[in-house]
Order: sequence, then C-alpha cells, then structure tokens
Amino acid sequence: MNKTFEKLTPWLDKAYALNCALLLFEWDDATEAPEESGELTSKAVEILSNEYYEAIINDDVKKLLKQLSKETDLNLKEKAIVKDLQKQYDSMEPIPQKEYQAYRGLIARASSIWAKAKNANDYSQFAPTLEKIIEYQKKFVDYRLKAGKLKVKPYDLLLDDFEEGFNMEKLDKFFDTLKKEIVPLLQMVTSKNDKINKDYNYRSYPIELQKEFNHGLAEHVGFDFKRGVIKESAHPFTTNLHNKDVRITTHYDEHNLESAIFSTIHESGHAMYELQISDDLTATPAGTGVSMGMHEGQSRLFENNFGRSHEFWMPLFQKLKDTYPDALKDMDLDHFILGINKSAPSLIRTESDELTYSLHIMVRYEVEKLIFENKISIDELPEAWNKKYEEYLGVTPENDAEGVLQDIHWATGSFGYFPSYALGNAIAAQIHAHLKTVMPLDKHLKDGDFQPINTYLKEHIHCFGKTKTTNEILKDMMGEEFNPQYYIDYLKNKYNTLYKDL
Ligand code: ZN
Repeated sequence: MNKTFEKLTPWLDKAYALNCALLLFEWDDATEAPEESGELTSKAVEILSNEYYEAIINDDVKKLLKQLSKETDLNLKEKAIVKDLQKQYDSMEPIPQKEYQAYRGLIARASSIWAKAKNANDYSQFAPTLEKIIEYQKKFVDYRLKAGKLKVKPYDLLLDDFEEGFNMEKLDKFFDTLKKEIVPLLQMVTSKNDKINKDYNYRSYPIELQKEFNHGLAEHVGFDFKRGVIKESAHPFTTNLHNKDVRITTHYDEHNLESAIFSTIHESGHAMYELQISDDLTATPAGTGVSMGMHEGQSRLFENNFGRSHEFWMPLFQKLKDTYPDALKDMDLDHFILGINKSAPSLIRTESDELTYSLHIMVRYEVEKLIFENKISIDELPEAWNKKYEEYLGVTPENDAEGVLQDIHWATGSFGYFPSYALGNAIAAQIHAHLKTVMPLDKHLKDGDFQPINTYLKEHIHCFGKTKTTNEILKDMMGEEFNPQYYIDYLKNKYNTLYKDL
C-alpha cells in the first residue's frame, strides 16, 4: 500500500462506519420505524451526519489528498478511492458546515412530511419543505461553482453527481432521439391495446402467498439470503452496507400481482451488483456500483430484458399458477407474457411499462431543468408537471398524489437523479444485446440457470466497483461505449414482434 494512502485509511474507515449508521437509519425509517419516530430520530441523524462531514472535510484529509494527487505509484483501487474522495471533498468543502447540518436535518424530516402530504393528496403540505430543499440545493451548487471556478450550468453540476459526463447537452440529444422513436411506436401499440386483457392482474392475491412467491423469485435470479434480506416499504429500494449485507424492499398490494413481482426482480438486480463487488473493494468508497445509470442498467436488465421475456417465465409459470390456482386458472403463458408487456400511457412512473418509462423520466428532467434555470416557482410545479404529462403521455393527473407528489426523490434532495433511470434502460439493452453474443442466454433463462449469467456480469461489470467508469466497463466488455441505439432497436423489435398478430 502506498504510504500516504495508508495515512488516509483511518479517516476512510471512520467515514465508512458513520455512513453505515446513516444508511441503517434510512433503511429503518422506511421499513420498521414507527410512524411518529421521524422528528426525534432526525436529531440523531443530524449528529451522525455532522460527524461524517468532519471525518471527510478536515485539514488532515485535505493535506493528504493534495499529497496523493502527486503520487505516481497508486494502484487501481487506491486511485479510484482518491478520485471518489476528492470528488466528495470538492462537493462538500465549499458548503458551510452549519448549513450542511441544517440541510441534513431538513432532509431527515422531509420524507415523512412528503408521505403525509401524498396520503392527504395535498401538495400545499409539502410545498414549504420542498421550497427550502430547493433553496439549499441552489445555494450549495452556487458555493461549489464559485469554489471550483467552474463555468458549468447549475443543473449540469447536479447531473454530474449521478452520472459523470452526461450533461444537459448530451441528455437533450438522448431524449430527443427517444421521443422521436418512442412516440410513433406508442401510437401503434395503443391502437391495439384493447386486444390485451389484463384483468387477471387485479384479482385477489393474498399477501402471505405473494411473499413466499417473491422470495422464491429473488432466489431464482441469484439473491443470496445469507447475505441479504427482503422487507417491505412504500417505495421499493436497495440498501448496501458491503457485499455480505445487501438489503432490498418490495411492496405488496393484494390486488396487483405484477407490482411486487417486478419490483422484487428489479431490486434483486441492484442487489446482484452489490453482492458481486470484489472482496478487495467492498467496504471502501470504491466498493459500490460505479454510477446510478450503471446500477439501473443492472436492475432494468433483470426486471425487463430478462424478467419480461417468455424464456424467463418458462420454468416459473407453473409455480405461479400453483401459488394462485383460482386467480390464474384461465391463464396460459402466452397470455401472461402479453399481459406483463402491455404498454399503455399511465400516470405512475414506478408502475409504467418499458415503452413509456423514459417518457415519465423526460417529464421530471424537464421540470428539474426549469427549477434550476429559475424559470418556475414552487407553486407552479403541479401545473407544469400535469401539462408535460398531457404533452408526452396524453394523460392528465387528477390530483397531486398521482402528479407532482408521486416520487420521494425531491424529498431526499435527489435532483439530477432521474435521468439515470432512462440511461439505465439504455445500458440494460446494450448489455442484453452483448450477452446474447457471448452465451446461449435464452437457454439459460429457459433452464432457470442464472449462474452463468451472474458469473459473466460479475467478471465483466460488478467486480470492478468504481475502479472503472461506466464507459470503460462497456468498452472493455464489448468494444463499444454507451450507445442508445441498442435500446431503440430493442424496443422496436420487442413491440413490433409482440403486437404483430394482434
Ligand atoms: Zn432501481
């Protein structure tokens, strides 16, 4: 180990431990914590966040980072950790500690305020909190831009936090292409939609049975219950401490069969990424997925490219029918495959199909652009949101809960995050196309054999953590950087084939 790097290790360890504690509070808040715990628990979270801040932002770390920038014998892992820490340092140091602390406290309270407002279907209950969060975000971006003498646009800086190099210029092009290709395809699909009966999805599926089936499903795709758990939360997510403790949540609705199935497969995809990080990197700042886009690339690959295919369900469909013999007695596999792939414009992003998903992301991306270009006020957000839904999806939210309040992201301060979902869809399609060239993918899915698939993903993507960038991973694996054409080809091919005979 490099000697200077060695001096950095105690700071890294401390920051890591504090981050674990913060993650566990977050996990607990969403899964087990009693409803009224938020206000007082947020005090503990505030103190820990402050400790975390001090473990990273201090003169010793600053000096060490400066020295390390001149060292020439760092190995790949050390380089990745230094790069990541430098990025964190640069984004946090310009922010006055008191403001950061107050912001973290606000964020700790915001999720429960958002949840209450959403339940009450009342944007005005959340608007003052959202306004404060946005004020902080704008101020923080401003501090960072000034400190780094950076000549980038505020929203570009936020986008870069989640997906390096994908700025508005690139994303505008990406979304324009998608819009051009998806909208006509959607028109064709929508015109034939009454041919697909999806009533089966809304019959009665007892939650205890769903739990059992979905746990089996997670296991089927490789989720290891000795190193992971599944709990329930309103909004499914994955929490990762290290490669021996990766936790996912799902959400059960007695009258919706698919909701839990596809969120379980989705989060299992995220989990596989984190479970397969190499032992050498785990529990260090480089020991996690390289970017949000690449992470979504894994979850979407599992959920859609694998999980909605005919081959995937061949070894599972009988088990599904046996679990719910009454509700599914008139169903056959072909009907089920059409049903789980039915595409129809809807209001809720998390329930949306593959074809319309990226249109939901476009709405959020464009609203966030307006926010950070100071072109919209807090009070105008619900209307702007609704108008864009009309424009892109042809549907209009009837209330705030299915409109501007539907996602938790803004309550957690995650601005600039949404585009990584759409990038993830495109990355998934690219990986999927590649897998088909290096292995008999359909045969493995038909056999229910995920081992060769997971091993390949581990060796070519997962194990590297942050030691390679998104584009380096893709290039080294398949000789080509990010290319959204795979996604467009995939959607065209899939929907034209599925809807051909209808
Ligand atoms: Zn996800």
